[in-house]
Amino acid sequence: MSVPSTARVVIIGGGVVGVSTLYHLAKNGWSDCVLLEKNELTAGSTWHAAGNCPTFSASYGVMNIQRYSLELYRGLADEVDYPLNYHVSGSLRLAHTQERMREFEYVAGMGRHMGVDMEMCTPQQMQERYPFLEIHDLEGGLWDPLDGDIDPAQVTQALAKGARSHGGKILRFTPATGVSRENGEWIVHTEKGDIRCEYVVNAAGYYAERVGEWFLPFGGRKVPLAVMSHQYFLTEPVPEVAAWSEKHGRKLPLLRDVDTSYYLRQETTGFNLGPYERNCQSAWTRADDPMPDDFSFQLYPDDLDRLEWYIEDAMARVPLLGTQGVSRNINGPIPYAPDGLPMIGPMPGVPNAFEAHTFTFGIAQGGGAGKVAAEWIMHGCTEWDMWAVDPRRYTDYTDKQYCIDKAMEVYGHEYAMHFPHHSWPAGRDRKLSPNHAKIVELGGQMGAFNGWERANWFAQEGDDTSEAATQTWSRSGPWQPRIKEECEAVRDGVGVLDLCGFSRFSLTGEGAAEWLRGKIAGGLPKAGRMNLGYFPDHRGRVLTEMSLIRHGEDDFTLITAAVAQWHDRDLLKSDLPEGLTLTDRTTEMTTLIVAGPKSRELFQGLTDADLSLGWLTHQQTTVAGKPAMLVRVSFTGELGWEVHAAVDDIPAIYAAILEAGAKPFGMFALNALRIEKGYRTWKGDLSTDYSLFESGLGRFVKLDKPQDFPGKQPLMIEKQQGSAKGFVTLVVDAGDHDAPYMSSLLKDGEIVGEITSCDWGYRVNACIALGVVRKGLDEPGTELELEVYGQKHKAVVQADQPLWDPENERLRA
Ligand SMILES: Cc1cc2nc3c(=O)[nH]c(=O)nc-3n(C[C@H](O)[C@H](O)[C@H](O)COP(=O)(O)OP(=O)(O)OC[C@H]3O[C@@H](n4cnc5c(N)ncnc54)[C@H](O)[C@@H]3O)c2cc1C
Repeated sequence: MSVPSTARVVIIGGGVVGVSTLYHLAKNGWSDCVLLEKNELTAGSTWHAAGNCPTFSASYGVMNIQRYSLELYRGLADEVDYPLNYHVSGSLRLAHTQERMREFEYVAGMGRHMGVDMEMCTPQQMQERYPFLEIHDLEGGLWDPLDGDIDPAQVTQALAKGARSHGGKILRFTPATGVSRENGEWIVHTEKGDIRCEYVVNAAGYYAERVGEWFLPFGGRKVPLAVMSHQYFLTEPVPEVAAWSEKHGRKLPLLRDVDTSYYLRQETTGFNLGPYERNCQSAWTRADDPMPDDFSFQLYPDDLDRLEWYIEDAMARVPLLGTQGVSRNINGPIPYAPDGLPMIGPMPGVPNAFEAHTFTFGIAQGGGAGKVAAEWIMHGCTEWDMWAVDPRRYTDYTDKQYCIDKAMEVYGHEYAMHFPHHSWPAGRDRKLSPNHAKIVELGGQMGAFNGWERANWFAQEGDDTSEAATQTWSRSGPWQPRIKEECEAVRDGVGVLDLCGFSRFSLTGEGAAEWLRGKIAGGLPKAGRMNLGYFPDHRGRVLTEMSLIRHGEDDFTLITAAVAQWHDRDLLKSDLPEGLTLTDRTTEMTTLIVAGPKSRELFQGLTDADLSLGWLTHQQTTVAGKPAMLVRVSFTGELGWEVHAAVDDIPAIYAAILEAGAKPFGMFALNALRIEKGYRTWKGDLSTDYSLFESGLGRFVKLDKPQDFPGKQPLMIEKQQGSAKGFVTLVVDAGDHDAPYMSSLLKDGEIVGEITSCDWGYRVNACIALGVVRKGLDEPGTELELEVYGQKHKAVVQADQPLWDPENERLRA
């Protein structure tokens, strides 16, 4: 097939993900799309994958992608008339501990929320499903009826057939060699000719970093990934397995011993064992071992020694495994992002370029990934919020060493539990506050936020600060009394929090105000004041929230969450008119939160500022002799100010504030304080899963303002017809656990909503959840049930006002 001179979309990479993206585009009517594959389809990681297809994930978004993939695969053979070896064998995950059982309960709950029925099992029930299993040391397990394995090459070819039948073009043995840009269009170069296109997709698997480099001149960044060597081996046939299969007419369920860290499944009549070993190996990371230009259909040499411990453990768990020898080992490249999740979405900094790469479970995720990538390209948004896999979640701190360190950590802990009070230790200290040493000296237990180190809580002498202490889902632990003290200090006295890394942009130029009015749903503050601005997408759903600080008619500082830095930069830059200037000042300035009823008194000794200026005002002044902007606002819900100052000046200010008696508090306390006020967090409570009205942000929507803004029409219709869902604050009769993200809300046993955040409020002394429920059930006093790790707890809808200081008297004081 010759290379066409134009196409609407060019996809670089013909693994399962690139092909699935083409399939979804073509099926949705975008037939003028081309996929370039340098070798044969599947030549990268896809051909040698084991093909396991779980639904299970600790991330709701990723689990939803997998759920969708499996649904697609179940009907694909018939849809495209291409036979597929797909075995839906079900799987058992083994739990060695009670904490693991809780994780399973949580994921089973997320499964029910998305219509997947997983079952908790006793050890005996597991043995009934899998008679060759040793169960004496197990707590129980989880049965996923939809798990199984698919032939990775076949599923790719089936998707390719489907894509072609809808007009998609696949050019094999046609490497892309570079990109350039002309008149707002991309030109993708190949040895056989150039293709001019509107959109380009990097789906190059473990070559994604190489392909990503072509986009550096157009605003791109180095793709944050590291390649790991991943192995599985196959055994000779096992007669007992053959007999069981023969008798039952199906395969044995897939086993995942997640606490030991391997999977074991039936392959024909033998076994396939695949460990994720702690002593893992990255590949192509040294100068003397560069990634070859072409590794198509190749493997690394066998390295079974690395797996020895896991093999022995698996043989003790399923003794049949030890009865036969190894027939074949597969050791192949697998790309890892620093959090182990893929990158699907807009390419940071680059217009009309998208990414769908760095998949560690690309076979299980390929179907859903194609849907999500195609939606980004076709509509500029996705059906479900996909922040978990959005490439913009990483910014400039992810150099190669960071990627390697994190990939090694994630791979070695592939099945680890992600506890709420735990911070993973690899790749730390990338971005430090100038107060970092002082904060650590004060006992700060640090967490990373967009690479910035902030204190989560402050330990005192004798507190257990070990990593082991954080291996719990429980609310209580060494941190709990300290969080309580920190919250009480803010309630009764004054506290200080170093909030380094707050994303900060300055927006100036004639017409800046008018342009912003066309972006947000609400109004702008007057000069000298600040307010919150909500940016809807064209459906009226919440894209982002920014603090808008207005200095003059067309002069603004825009402040957003640390992790939103590149998301919001790209949002603001996407159609910035000529004459307006947007500058990222995140590393120039930094922020302290000073809050509590005694904060005015504290500042009186440190500044000549007018401390009587009201809530939501700001002023340029000096604090401790250093220039600073004081903003009268506090996410804690107490009287307070944010101090914004140059990075070089902040140590003196922080020292003076501590000296004046403020107690340092951390992010855990801040979360507890904000939830009592019903303040939302971005990508927790606020996401593109909900409209502004559904997020309870009606007071920030001005439908009668003259300016048009994205989503105005749909929001007007929603206003007239009523929202399907309502945002609620609930007080929960909780036990020892706060509910994790996306725990289900039920009424009479039926799922009617979900919670978006939950924490203990130390001022109101209650467990508080924020969430979204079916309309009608959002009336104050409505009694619902909240499922927390499988246990149902009463949760009562509260009045639509903050639980703490409902009239905002304290923060206006
Ligand atoms: C041993 C092993 C076992 C695995 N088991 C499983 C499993 O059980 N379940 C599961 O879900 N996942 C598994 N995986 C992971 C899975 O293989 C990958 O996640 C998946 O194949 C990724 O698909 P992809 O399309 O993103 O990338 P790839 O399959 O690597 O495809 C990328 C393609 O891009 C092409 N390309 C690169 N550069 C260019 C260019 N310049 N021009 C044109 N084409 C280019 C390459 O040739 C390649 O074909 C396993 C991986 C390994 C190593």
